Amino acid sequence: MAESKRDYYEVLGVAKGASDSEIKSAYRKVAKKYHPDANPGDKEAEAKFKEAAEAYAVLSDADKRRQYDQFGHAAFEQGGMGGGGFDFSGDMSDLFGSFGDIFGDLFGGGGRRRNNNGPVKGANVRAGIRITFDEAVFGTEKDLDLNLKEECNTCHGSGAKPGSTPETCSKCGGRGQVVYTQQTLFGMSQSVQACPDCRGTGKIVKDKCNDCRGMGYQTVRKKIQVSVPAGIDHGQSIRIRGKGEPGERGGERGDLLVEVSVSTHPIFQRQDMDIFSNAPLSFATAALGGDVRISTVDGDVMYTVAPGTQTGTRVRLRGKGVPSLRNKEVRGDHYVTLVVQVPTKLTNEQKEAIRHLDEVMAGDKNTSGTEKKPEKKSMKKKVEEFFDNLVDDDK
Ligand SMILES: [Zn+2]
Ligand SMILES: [Zn+2]
Repeated sequence: MAESKRDYYEVLGVAKGASDSEIKSAYRKVAKKYHPDANPGDKEAEAKFKEAAEAYAVLSDADKRRQYDQFGHAAFEQGGMGGGGFDFSGDMSDLFGSFGDIFGDLFGGGGRRRNNNGPVKGANVRAGIRITFDEAVFGTEKDLDLNLKEECNTCHGSGAKPGSTPETCSKCGGRGQVVYTQQTLFGMSQSVQACPDCRGTGKIVKDKCNDCRGMGYQTVRKKIQVSVPAGIDHGQSIRIRGKGEPGERGGERGDLLVEVSVSTHPIFQRQDMDIFSNAPLSFATAALGGDVRISTVDGDVMYTVAPGTQTGTRVRLRGKGVPSLRNKEVRGDHYVTLVVQVPTKLTNEQKEAIRHLDEVMAGDKNTSGTEKKPEKKSMKKKVEEFFDNLVDDDK
């Protein structure tokens, strides 16, 4: 479904690494050019305008931009994860709502909301959950306790006392909206807004329902199950359709947007799909080579290091990273920095062995290039014995 979508950076005509202010100014330029007020009745301009608004909504939001850079349009596609999806909708009212800050001065505010008495979708509700590092990597199910507005059972949402009927609003004549005329850059512009007296319902309730105090809804505590997909990252949101506020005049409910916070891990760090950690390496294993135990999110693995491995050496464990949100079979890598441990508590015997090693190493240096081959060989043996001792003591 997103295949035909243009790249958001291309839509705004900016480079991938563009700064926030470059994006903002590019968007202003494109949006001004294609704004419906400047192109009345031009469908193509309107489409371009919406495309730019969508691109800006994503690229101006650090989290969404990061998701987009990582996963492309797929980051915001719906479905495929049990009703969940990512935090973006093509709901234009959301996008137009965001004009307040950027276009308030240019177009006289007001925005362009859906202007009829038809059904209005309910507002989105935001909530947050905290999950562990491992839950983010492998996905999880979480229960969320939430106060949700439900239609009042007594008045069925009208807000009027049973037996009474709401009266027609006199300010808007029951239309639920009022028209304001404003002077803008492009001439006179009419904007239609919800009637302030009846809040767009067209009705005034005189005899209020006792159970909901005329609100038409009641707040109910509900448990919502959230499916957290494998690979989700800190700050990303999961959209659960139809769990937001009730709509008006028969409109569908808004959505619930659950923002995910991921706790830090004691040893793992994450960057997009890759995991980073340090692993201790004994002095002996570093010098002689051997197996080292490395913790990964899949459990411990044994990794064989070469003799003479230096501290700070980084090894890559392919496919031990975080799964892609798009396809959990595809995983990032785990980079491990090996840190050679210098022994701190030594027995006298071990100290003696190290002193001996030091002497032997110094001797090795002094004699390099000279003809003392048999001697050298025995020194090498001594070094090996020293390390063997250390290995034994290393448990
Ligand atoms: Zn009621
Ligand atoms: Zn009214």
